[in-house]
Amino acid sequence: MKIGIYDLDSIIANLALMKISAWHKSKGDQVYRYLELEKYDKVYISKVFKFSKMPKYFIDNYEVGGSGFDLEKKLPVEIDQMKPDYDLYPRNTFDIGFISRGCPRSCAFCIVPAKEGKLKQIDEPMNIYSGRHKKIMFLDNNFTALRDRIDLLKTIIKMQNKTRVKISFTQGLDIRLINDEFMYYFKEIKRYEKIRVAFDNLTYKDKFMKGMAIMKKYTKMRNVMVYVLVGFDTPRSDDLERLELVRETGAIPYLMKFDKTNDYQKRIARWVNRPAMFAKVPWLNFEKYDKLTRGHVEVNQLKLF
Ligand code: SF4
Repeated sequence: MKIGIYDLDSIIANLALMKISAWHKSKGDQVYRYLELEKYDKVYISKVFKFSKMPKYFIDNYEVGGSGFDLEKKLPVEIDQMKPDYDLYPRNTFDIGFISRGCPRSCAFCIVPAKEGKLKQIDEPMNIYSGRHKKIMFLDNNFTALRDRIDLLKTIIKMQNKTRVKISFTQGLDIRLINDEFMYYFKEIKRYEKIRVAFDNLTYKDKFMKGMAIMKKYTKMRNVMVYVLVGFDTPRSDDLERLELVRETGAIPYLMKFDKTNDYQKRIARWVNRPAMFAKVPWLNFEKYDKLTRGHVEVNQLKLF
């Protein structure tokens, strides 16, 4: 069979598509990245984001998956168990995989609880290492909450001593679950990206500040990036307070817009996500300047016309 793999919108190499590719190759099929004018016996389409548009032209015999299409659709077990076929993404430079799936929390803005369910360990770090790349990106959504997290950190440290591979926990750590024991081992991990944590609302302000204070004992805070979500259910005063608290810790804030089309969210992201601007210009000054230079129209100005 001739198989077409259509990656609509992935930001990194798509793990599910690489497993589908590996499974078909194991059956003797030929697998290619999809090209519009080619004919295939079957095409697999991955749609990660809801807002991505499906192809307008007709594709015969296709199957769609991905969190932007259906949160409940899962790979069949025999495909999910395959090692990824990295040949599908020749420019990719890291191994990708999950040690665990799921999350014990249920943040209302997040698809993980619905998509992956309760937290469980599903693999060993060494199984994700392919020997082909110098980096591994673990996609775990809440590694910090795993019961065996300390043993897993020790395993990763041993694996690094053997392979020299560098690590990223790209989805971040849960700052509410950071303690000295965790950081004692985590600091030994050789990383290729900043440590990422989130501060989504003020309900866990004290736990956030406590976790950051522990982190500060083990790493320089310029190595820590804090995702600050705005526009979901927090007032602006809450957004600004969280940003000032992040500033106080010395970590680097990264503003996440819940609604990418919202004017306020775009504006505050322009302020925060430019470190020099955030460091030197107060929000009120930036807001005035940004409104002037970007042709902002206040709602009450509309009454003039
Ligand atoms: S802690 Fe993170 S992964 Fe878990 S539900 Fe909240 S946002 Fe999602």
